[in-house]
Amino acid sequence: MILHAARLIKHHGHEFIVSVPARDLSAERKCSSTNFREKPGNTNNQMAESSTISKGSTVEECQDMIRRGLRTPMVKFLKEHLEKSGCRIGDNFIKASHCNQKISGGYARGRGIIVCSNHMQIQDEVNQVLIHELIHAYDECRAGNLDWANCAHHACSEIRAGHLSGDCHYKRELLRGYLKIRGHEQECVKRRVMKSMSGNPNCSETASKDAMEAIWDVCYNDTKPFDRAP
Ligand SMILES: [Zn+2]
Repeated sequence: MILHAARLIKHHGHEFIVSVPARDLSAERKCSSTNFREKPGNTNNQMAESSTISKGSTVEECQDMIRRGLRTPMVKFLKEHLEKSGCRIGDNFIKASHCNQKISGGYARGRGIIVCSNHMQIQDEVNQVLIHELIHAYDECRAGNLDWANCAHHACSEIRAGHLSGDCHYKRELLRGYLKIRGHEQECVKRRVMKSMSGNPNCSETASKDAMEAIWDVCYNDTKPFDRAP
């Protein structure tokens, strides 16, 4: 709903990559005590310094995993719905790339989706990134003028991407070392929304948190194009 309201808001033209945090197990564990009061900048530095980054895959290996990912049902479903909403995806829309930042992928208007090969080890990780970023692309497509510089718009799309991509399914959470099951899914989505938004130069930590809380119910329950959360 909020995304449709986005049509009324003028686009400011601030472009940056809407990124998804890298899934580095040791770093995520070290940051498990992270709460929203800590400054995201500090947390990120800490993570960059203290983590052992897994070797990941080459750009070519990652490109192969993207090709395989494009044949999985959820990715196909999202691609179809993007096309139905009038946004055709060309062959170059999704690319593997070596990323210097600690992100696993990103989406930018006009540039498409990148999957960070050096942070991808297994097919499942690539599939997650594809689904997550395709939801951002879908949100932008259906809203007409979604403004990533608007903290509410960005938070809404991150809530949806985090919820609908299964980023926070409990098995993945167990792998990250978070063992609390009850209510974990929403906590996990919130944590990852905040992490993604820390890369948005237009949204302070407070602005991000306020935006996320204000629109949480609407965006969490907006499961389009799925009938319900997969
Ligand atoms: Zn995202």
